[in-house]
Amino acid sequence: MERQYQAMDRRTFLSRAGGLGFLMLSGVGAGVNGEDAQAVEGVWILASDTHVPADRSEAYRGFRPYEHFATVAQQFQQVPAQGCIITGDLARLQGLEGDYENLFELARPVADRFPLYLCLGNHDDRGNILKHLESAQGRASVSGKLVYSTKSNGVRFLMLDSLLSPNLTPGLLGKNQRTWLRSVLEEDPDSPTVLFFHHTLGDGDGDLLDGDRLFALVAEFPQVKAMVYGHSHTYSVTERAGVQLINLPAVGYNFNDADAIGWVLARFSPTGVDLTLKTIAGNREAHDEVRTVRWA
Ligand SMILES: [Zn+2]
Repeated sequence: MERQYQAMDRRTFLSRAGGLGFLMLSGVGAGVNGEDAQAVEGVWILASDTHVPADRSEAYRGFRPYEHFATVAQQFQQVPAQGCIITGDLARLQGLEGDYENLFELARPVADRFPLYLCLGNHDDRGNILKHLESAQGRASVSGKLVYSTKSNGVRFLMLDSLLSPNLTPGLLGKNQRTWLRSVLEEDPDSPTVLFFHHTLGDGDGDLLDGDRLFALVAEFPQVKAMVYGHSHTYSVTERAGVQLINLPAVGYNFNDADAIGWVLARFSPTGVDLTLKTIAGNREAHDEVRTVRWA
């Protein structure tokens, strides 16, 4: 790789930037102008299913995912957020190198401003994306998986990896990752905790295959308050066994005209999260609708 890209942390990004002019100009400038100071504690950008293609003109159902991601990446610049989490299906279908080149080019100003956590979906390729994530901040050591943890406004975030195999629909956390999850939940039983990953939690063949095992595990740890995921390209907030389930809309395209295309502005606190829907296409009737989720 000619150009090393550090997508996770601006400070690391800058310290590694050395003589690269564009990084010093955009990165340091942002800090000096006080953009960081505007970040509101607990405010995060939540997005999913960007499906950025190698071919910028590629369209699906009349939507152009490259342009959609370019649009939201611009919008993310205006938000007083502490960071951004994208819950997988970053790439169009197979996780091609060209998909990620476009994704990271568009995401660079976002990652330059605050931490950007990228979960993997069934249309991602772990090997290809890792070429762009040489030293991801907060990355946990789970063999063969891309997993992170962080904390914001008293809420612990655990970003999990449910990619089973590129372009194969179902997902799997796997025993290793569930064992790691158990150990980190045992370490910190007091912080309200939110899990982020790609796959939906139904009992279909394309859902998270070890979803029931995940729920059996989480049942032992009442600090797990919510799970946030994508995959369905449909926005919904439901509940299962006392856990709030937040299914994010897609950025790339919808599968049904009734579904919004966009992202969610979230404000986390120890007692819940307020979700504001930001639409860019599809059904925009619920634009700016706020959903209040309380878990305490
Ligand atoms: Zn998707």
